[in-house]
Amino acid sequence: MTTSVVLATNNAKKLAELRRIVVEEGLDIEVLGLGDVATFPEPAETEWTFEGNALIKARAAAQHTGLVALADDSGICVDALNQMPGVRSARWAGPQHDDLANLDLLLAQISDVRDPHRTARFVAAMALVTPDGREFTSRGEMPGRITGAPRGEGGFGYDPIFVPDDGEADLTTAQMTPEAKDTISHRGKAVRAIIGTLASVIGGEA
Ligand code: IMP
Repeated sequence: MTTSVVLATNNAKKLAELRRIVVEEGLDIEVLGLGDVATFPEPAETEWTFEGNALIKARAAAQHTGLVALADDSGICVDALNQMPGVRSARWAGPQHDDLANLDLLLAQISDVRDPHRTARFVAAMALVTPDGREFTSRGEMPGRITGAPRGEGGFGYDPIFVPDDGEADLTTAQMTPEAKDTISHRGKAVRAIIGTLASVIGGEA
């Protein structure tokens, strides 16, 4: 019988990404998003680490749905900014979630920084929480560098200004196919790192 788990997100792209990876891993699991379950109050992300914030979201989802819950927290860490924006990535230009304002501000902040010092990494933590309170986390990172100007229409967030070290030529992650990004992305790595735990939990082994 297919087991349902919930990914605590309203982001359709994150949901599609996890579903693709679950299929690639051959797991018989239905991944629901927050839009597929009864509404509950979303908790504030009050921690200073990606893992801490992912756990806050997964705990709330497990508690309110009674399902095994996954949640991610992610962001971009820029070396010339002492690893910021980090957990503040979504709100870097202010409390509103405005991707363009965020990446414009970041570009302005490092406008005087030249290669090879424009290094950065995307970081993602995944948390898995069971309704009976077991908690697991994983982390994935994608190193690369910040471009001088945005390029590409795909992806979201800071994708148009990020060229990954392990990507093709000089493409930003906004110029890559979703599948190509999955294979090297921070979230792809974090999801694949927790998928064995998910399989064990669903199978009753963890
Ligand atoms: P979260 O949804 O709370 O994890 O916020 C993460 C923020 O970090 C997003 O709003 C984006 O600004 C940024 N971010 C995380 N992962 C990516 C990515 O894969 N591409 C582009 N931006 C990302």
